Amino acid sequence: MANKRAFITGISGQDGSYLTEFLLDKGYEVAGLVRRNAVLDLGNINQLREEVKIYYGDLQSPESIALALYDFKPDEIYNLAALSSPLASFSDKVATIMVTGVGALHVFERAKQIVPEAKIYQASTSEMFGAPKQVPQNEDTSLAPANPYAAAKEFAHRMAQIARHDKKQPQFITCGILFNHESPRRGLNFVTRKITASVACIKNNRKEGIPLNEIGEPIVQNGKVKLGDLDARRDWGYAPDYVKAMWMMLQQEKADDFVIATGEVHTVQEFVEEAFSVVGLDWKDHIETDSHFVPPIQTGPLCGDAAKAKKILGWGAETKFKDLVRIMVHADLAKFS
Ligand code: NAP
Repeated sequence: MANKRAFITGISGQDGSYLTEFLLDKGYEVAGLVRRNAVLDLGNINQLREEVKIYYGDLQSPESIALALYDFKPDEIYNLAALSSPLASFSDKVATIMVTGVGALHVFERAKQIVPEAKIYQASTSEMFGAPKQVPQNEDTSLAPANPYAAAKEFAHRMAQIARHDKKQPQFITCGILFNHESPRRGLNFVTRKITASVACIKNNRKEGIPLNEIGEPIVQNGKVKLGDLDARRDWGYAPDYVKAMWMMLQQEKADDFVIATGEVHTVQEFVEEAFSVVGLDWKDHIETDSHFVPPIQTGPLCGDAAKAKKILGWGAETKFKDLVRIMVHADLAKFS
């Protein structure tokens, strides 16, 4: 029997790269959509460039999606591409809606015309819950996005549900409502990675090549790190555990929605404390708060109830919070040595 074929948009991102490794291990042929500005640097999949087929394109260009689908004819499509920072989405609302929202619809529509039997995974997010009254949140919790990113994701989520229930030509589109998941491949504009990279730069007494934060300043200046709201509460898991859930969802007979989460909540301050303790430093000597890093409208507390995923998929988070922090700090100690 021929190998299954998976097409991944956002293949060079955190999740795309772990999913690629996971699917290659399972014997899949994998292809991905990459933006032209990544011709020389494929980010998190540089080490896999010989093993995957790359199509240059953009979610804002339906033609580029169509050409890739015509040529590759995937059995499974994972739509992971997005402008994925909730904070940054406030300063680039239109692009966020066009890529993260309308871009997903382009994928659904082109797939319907070209590979109607393909199973599609849509990367939905816990950010769609906004500031929910119901804790923990599950698949039935009301959606009330509190930032442009989440609004764009809700649009894509609703369009996926509509396509799924279309009586004339139903599409298999499953939405994974994933809670935050992190790793050493997380973008440096996300708070967890900013913390672990800063810890590494401080511990290694690094003076040059310090990464920049969202407002273009080095993330560490004079031994200090600027963060937003230390009381923000999130349910943080480990990305490799979460990409396995994506694949499990597409092995089902029926498309559906699934919450994927650890069910454990921690504050940003707890993440900070844990990260500094890994290298034996006192976080209070290094952390400052700065309103630039606080979104205009707050989200959370976000805490997921993944009981449905456990029951139907047999999925559960394997990596604990402390292990996640330790993995990220150690990877950054090596990277920013
Ligand atoms: P990520 O690291 O930010 O990756 C996003 C990917 O999308 C990148 O490869 C990026 O390519 C690509 N992309 C951006 N704009 C594009 C466009 N116009 N056309 C084509 N590709 C484009 O995100 P992630 O953490 O892997 O997350 C994967 C997906 O899950 C995203 O949709 C995210 O919103 C969603 N999600 C993530 C989490 C989480 O905690 N990580 C939670 C829930 C949902 P470039 O490198 O060229 O920018």
